[in-house]
Amino acid sequence: MIKEIKSLRKEAEESCKSRNHEINWQKETEYSNRITQIGICRACEMEVMINTNPAPNDIDISGEAVALGCLEFIKWNEKIWKEKIDECFKNKGHQIEVVEALYQLIYPDWDNIKSIGNKPTVGKGISEYIYGKAMAFDRKQHPNAMQGGLWFNKGWSTDEKMDRWSIDMSTAEVEY
Ligand SMILES: [Zn+2]
Repeated sequence: MIKEIKSLRKEAEESCKSRNHEINWQKETEYSNRITQIGICRACEMEVMINTNPAPNDIDISGEAVALGCLEFIKWNEKIWKEKIDECFKNKGHQIEVVEALYQLIYPDWDNIKSIGNKPTVGKGISEYIYGKAMAFDRKQHPNAMQGGLWFNKGWSTDEKMDRWSIDMSTAEVEY
């Protein structure tokens, strides 16, 4: 059955949105028996392709953007990191909620992850900012616990040689 390009686009967009992408659509391409269109995430540049009449061995919605989470955060600068980190601490009662929110920032598909062995690595700017906030949070919410202790155990690794506001995901071992 041939799907309408409009409904296909809506379906693809929803799927990409669930992985945090923001899709910019290029112009439709019309062939005699099908219409195709490519969308590109404005943040991470991953692609999604739709095809109203795919070949039998093909699918109507394909591309990295429907399979992988957005890597938008790789381009964040100091200002954006601070804003996003601040949000993770807002309205949280327990330090574990903060840790989860921080991981969700960089793993939009966090709910599907079984375990993370080694951690992603960040520069000193990100690391110091999180520790500063985590210690202040613990002073208030967990006065008897080691300040910043949970982030020390569960948090990201720090590399002093890296750019202060950069992140390297390749050091993480994620199991789905
Ligand atoms: Zn993206």
